[in-house]
Amino acid sequence: MTESAAPSRTGASRKRALDDLALLGGDRAFHPPVSTSNLTRPDPERLLGYARRVHDARRLTGDGPLGAELEARLRTFHECEHVVTFSCGFWALALAVRCLALPGRTEVLMPSLTYRRMADAVAWTGLIPRFCEIDPVTLAMTRATAAAAVTDETALILGAQPIVNCCDMSGLEALAADTGLPLLIDSVESTYESHEGRRIGNFGRAELFSMHASKLVNGMEGGYVTTNEGELAQRLRRLRSHGADADGEISELGLNARLSEVHAAFALANLDGLEACVAHNEAIYRAYRRALGDLPGLRLLAFDESERCSFKNIVVELRDSWPLSRELTIAHLNGEGVLARAYYHPPLHARPTSYETRGRELPVSDALGERFLLLPCGANTGPGDVADVVELLRFLSDNGATLADGAGR
Ligand SMILES: *Cc1c(COP(=O)(O)O)cnc(C)c1O
Repeated sequence: MTESAAPSRTGASRKRALDDLALLGGDRAFHPPVSTSNLTRPDPERLLGYARRVHDARRLTGDGPLGAELEARLRTFHECEHVVTFSCGFWALALAVRCLALPGRTEVLMPSLTYRRMADAVAWTGLIPRFCEIDPVTLAMTRATAAAAVTDETALILGAQPIVNCCDMSGLEALAADTGLPLLIDSVESTYESHEGRRIGNFGRAELFSMHASKLVNGMEGGYVTTNEGELAQRLRRLRSHGADADGEISELGLNARLSEVHAAFALANLDGLEACVAHNEAIYRAYRRALGDLPGLRLLAFDESERCSFKNIVVELRDSWPLSRELTIAHLNGEGVLARAYYHPPLHARPTSYETRGRELPVSDALGERFLLLPCGANTGPGDVADVVELLRFLSDNGATLADGAGR
C-alpha cells in the first residue's frame, strides 16, 4: 500500500483522471472517513460535571437521579407526560410492542423499508411481522397502505418515521381509531421534529426513540418511550426491571433493560448541546443543497421547513439520468472514505429470517429500495467536506458511462 497516513482531504479529493479513483489505484480522498452517523460528542467539561454527580451520588446501578433527570428533560423536550428510558431502543421497542399488542391476535403491521432490526424486535415478543407498502413521496407508510394490510390477526399498528420528515401520523391515528387497533410509532428518526405543529412524542399510544451514538440524542447507548398514559408508563418501568413492582415483587415476565447512570450522564451532556448540533446539521444540509443544485442526476430529499426539523439525514435519490448503478456509486464512494450507504437496504420483506413474516409482495418498496442513498453528515462532517463529497460525485457522474463499462476493473 502506498496510502499516506497524513490527514489530507483536499488534494486527493480532486480527481483528474480515472486512475485517481481509489478503486482504480489512486489515493483515498478522505482521511479519516466521513460517515452518515450523527456521532455527536458532548462538551467534555459538561460530561465530567454530570459524571461527577454519578460518582458522588454513589448510585452505581440504573434507575438513579441522573436517569430521573434525563427523563424529566425529555418530557419537557417532547412536551409529553411520561418518558421511560431503557438500555437501548431495541428492547424499548420490544417491551412497548408487548404492552400494546391486542391479546389473542398474532400480527404486528409495519412497513418493510425501515430500520433493519424492527421485525426482529417484534419476533422477540412472539408476534409475527406483517409488512405493508409505503408512499413513494414520503417513503413512509400511510393510512391507505397500512389499511390494505390490516387482517383479522392484526394486534398492533407499528408505524415508523422515514428518515427525512415524518409519516402521516394523523392518518395513522385515524386508522387506529377506525379499526380499534393500538398505534405505536418508531419515531427514532423524527426525535426533534413536529407534525402539524404538534411535537413528536405525543402521537399514537406511545412512541419509541433511541439514544445510540448514531442518533440525534447520543447517550452512547440507550432508548426511551414517550406516552401520555400513566398506566402504560408504569408497566414499562416494571418490565425494564425484571417485571418487579416498587416493593420488589415480580408480577410479570420482564427484562433487565434499565439505562445506566453513566449513559444518562452522557445523554444529558449531549442534550445541553442539542441546539448547536441541529445548527451544525442545518449548515451541512444547506451546503448540500447549494452544491447539489447543479448535479441533476441526484435529487436531495428536502426537509419540510414549515415544521421543526433536525436536518440530520442527507438522502438523495438517484434519478434515471444518474449514469452509475447505486452499487457501483457506493463502491467508489466507500473506496474514497465516503461512507455513503443504501437507504434501508434490503427491505425487511426481502431479508432471510429465522422467524415467520407475512406480506412479501411489495413492488413499491422493492422499487424504492433501489433508488436512495445516504450521504455523510453529522458531527464529523464539515461544510468543507460537503463540497469535496459533491465534487467527487460530479467526477463520478462526468465519467459515469466509462466507469459503468467497467473501465480499469
Ligand atoms: C437505531 C434505531 C432503533 C433501535 O435503536 P438501538 O438503540 O440501536 O437499539 C430503532 N428504530 C430505528 C428507526 C433506529 O434507527
